[in-house]
Amino acid sequence: MSKIADNLISVKERIEKAALRAARDPGEVKLVVVSKTIGVEEIREAISAGAAILGESYVQEAKEKIEEIGHQVRWHMIGHLQTNKVKQAINLFDMIYSADSINLAEEIDKRAKQSGKTISVLIQVNISQETTKSGIERDSAISLVSKIVNLTNIKVEGLMTMPPYFDDPEDTRPYFKSLRELKEEIERKGFENIYMKELSMGMSSDFEIAVEEGATIIRVGTAIFGERG
Ligand SMILES: *Cc1c(COP(=O)(O)O)cnc(C)c1O
Repeated sequence: MSKIADNLISVKERIEKAALRAARDPGEVKLVVVSKTIGVEEIREAISAGAAILGESYVQEAKEKIEEIGHQVRWHMIGHLQTNKVKQAINLFDMIYSADSINLAEEIDKRAKQSGKTISVLIQVNISQETTKSGIERDSAISLVSKIVNLTNIKVEGLMTMPPYFDDPEDTRPYFKSLRELKEEIERKGFENIYMKELSMGMSSDFEIAVEEGATIIRVGTAIFGERG
């Protein structure tokens, strides 16, 4: 078996164990295989081994790969999205993870309308309040959601976050917990057309903790493809 297939199986096993530790159904957790900077041949290997959702961070890079590989798998835009790339992104991706301002959300809505689509998005939350990270501040997230309610061609499916890196993954737990609590808070508001079903949190270094804390989408690159060059 190839290294990539091997790694994929091992990540899936670790997801399953983490879910069971938290008395969750492992089937609730979707694995996004993060393929940014990874070449088409290796991506194809991952797909043969069962990868069903690929995560990309840059529109232009993703476009080239998607043109070659096609839509036999789903493609998620996990990176920061610039306004001038929204039109392309709408046509390439099944979900956009990085809606973090009303301006960006309005642009996504407008372009989706023009393409005759409704696009799924996650609200990216800067849960650690680090100034270097993109994402909306936790305290402003509810206000953003309340404005997105009026945008007809955006379907908010949940929240996404990227906590700081820690040597000890256990240190990320409070951030994951905080995102889950924010999701529950938004759910209680009962906004129309807002579906708080997804929590995208957890990467190679900390996805087991994220699964224990309720992640429904984890994003894993390095643990499947190895260190990016
Ligand atoms: C690169 C990236 C990942 C994957 O990180 P790994 O540590 O390689 O698993 C996950 N999420 C986002 C937003 C990324 O940019």
